[in-house]
Amino acid sequence: MKSKQIVIVGAGVGGLGTALRLAHRGHSVTVLEKNNFVGGRNHREQVGGCHFDAGPTLLMMLDPFRKLFADVGESFDKHLDIRLCDPTYRVFFSDGIQIDATTDIEKMAKRISDLSGPAPAAAYPQFLKELKQLYDESIPHFVRKNFRSLADFASPPQLGRVVRNHMLGNLAKRVHKKFEDPKLRMLFTFQSMYLGLSPHDAPWVYATLAYMEYGEGIWYPMGGLPAISEAIARLAEERGAKIRLNCNVKSIDEKSVTLQGGEVINADIVIANADMPYAQRELTAAPPKRSLRYSCSAHLMYLDYNGELPGMEHHNVFFGNDFDGNLDSLFHKVAMPSDPAFYACISKKTEPSMAPNGHSNLMLLVPVPNLDCPPTKEATQKLEQEVFARLTKEVGFNPSKIRGIKRRGPTEWQQELNLEKGAAFGISHDLFQSAFMRPQNRSLTQPNLFFVGASTVPGNGLPMVLISAELVEQRLVQEGLIPA
Ligand SMILES: Cc1cc2nc3c(=O)[nH]c(=O)nc-3n(C[C@H](O)[C@H](O)[C@H](O)COP(=O)(O)OP(=O)(O)OC[C@H]3O[C@@H](n4cnc5c(N)ncnc54)[C@H](O)[C@@H]3O)c2cc1C
Repeated sequence: MKSKQIVIVGAGVGGLGTALRLAHRGHSVTVLEKNNFVGGRNHREQVGGCHFDAGPTLLMMLDPFRKLFADVGESFDKHLDIRLCDPTYRVFFSDGIQIDATTDIEKMAKRISDLSGPAPAAAYPQFLKELKQLYDESIPHFVRKNFRSLADFASPPQLGRVVRNHMLGNLAKRVHKKFEDPKLRMLFTFQSMYLGLSPHDAPWVYATLAYMEYGEGIWYPMGGLPAISEAIARLAEERGAKIRLNCNVKSIDEKSVTLQGGEVINADIVIANADMPYAQRELTAAPPKRSLRYSCSAHLMYLDYNGELPGMEHHNVFFGNDFDGNLDSLFHKVAMPSDPAFYACISKKTEPSMAPNGHSNLMLLVPVPNLDCPPTKEATQKLEQEVFARLTKEVGFNPSKIRGIKRRGPTEWQQELNLEKGAAFGISHDLFQSAFMRPQNRSLTQPNLFFVGASTVPGNGLPMVLISAELVEQRLVQEGLIPA
């Protein structure tokens, strides 16, 4: 079988991972990207002399990164200088109490004991073991898998795994049963917000995220997370892939892709990395039939701050005084939260060259509703003031020391990257949009059209979109479109 002409629409990490895999197999790969940078959500941002990761800041679950590089004869650890973040993050509760999360089980148990007493500290190692088992059984059998039929999903061994690990149980309820202290409950459930999902609506299987953080840790590649996008792009180009920036795709047809300027590019196979619901609705003749639910969005502020903020770590999580109320506003009332939980990142703490002397590259991420509830100027200003007030009270932040600021909210996520509804984390990961029930990576109407990225299988997050690239490659082989 001769090499195929493959066009990939979008140079996000999912598109780049797929380009690298297919170019390595000798196919003729062209990546068309509307922006003037690679990486999609994982790109660079700069304000004054400060450098930022625009979206993802937490490198976790290293296996899919290492596997991509190994599959093309390279070493992830040789291309990227990665460092474990310890503490994983500093958590600030609204009553002024703090805890530093770590992967060191003994240290973590001691910190839990200081926070909540000896009983939860004693229960912690067993909790982590249970999370590890859940992780070990779910990743190979449910995440790294193309489902071709219900039988694939619901075979007796698969159902055995689901039942044994309570995968479909409710995440918040199961953690609440194990830990009584509301602080520990927040600590071990909030990770589902990385998927834009309330822990009250999340299946227990997403407790795997807590395992990634507490069992394996959070890493940082020197140069920032966009260094990963850039390394994958470089390797793909070395294998002959063409990455064309500033190429806004207008439509995808049976055997070609048309750019906004009118240029037509022929293809045997097209892979859409642009957010799947947008790509189906806007680029193909077959918009999704099924109505989908979407994740929340995120309001980001990138600050050139003229100060050091010694009370903060590289990664910091702030909980408001009513976490459940916060979740309710975001996910059920779909309204701008007040006293919000938020995340703050200063990568300069690990890599000093990311900000000039005496300055901090402070990135703030506040989960907000997607464009189902478009943000008003007043509501956004109030949200920012609440975040600044919290930082002022707890870490000595002073708004008059802000030397430059850039913002990115749901409207910008939609306009810049074509994320449907400005939902920063793609379609929701609720039970009915997970695994077998998540929109699959092939078109139901166009046999040569496939999808890769956060809104298809297996889901959102850098490791997941790299697995998504593995799954597309596997699918092309299974369907006989490329040789094994
Ligand atoms: C604020 C935020 C924080 C996050 N934090 C983390 C984290 O800490 N750790 C983690 O692992 N994950 C994190 N994520 C998730 C992670 O960033 C995403 O899952 C991942 O980057 C998605 O990659 P993708 O390839 O699916 O899509 P994208 O990155 O969205 O790439 C799609 C590409 O398609 C392009 N495109 C769209 N339409 C067209 C068109 N018509 N023509 C040409 N090109 C087009 C876009 O410009 C874009 O470059 C975060 C996400 C956000 C938004």
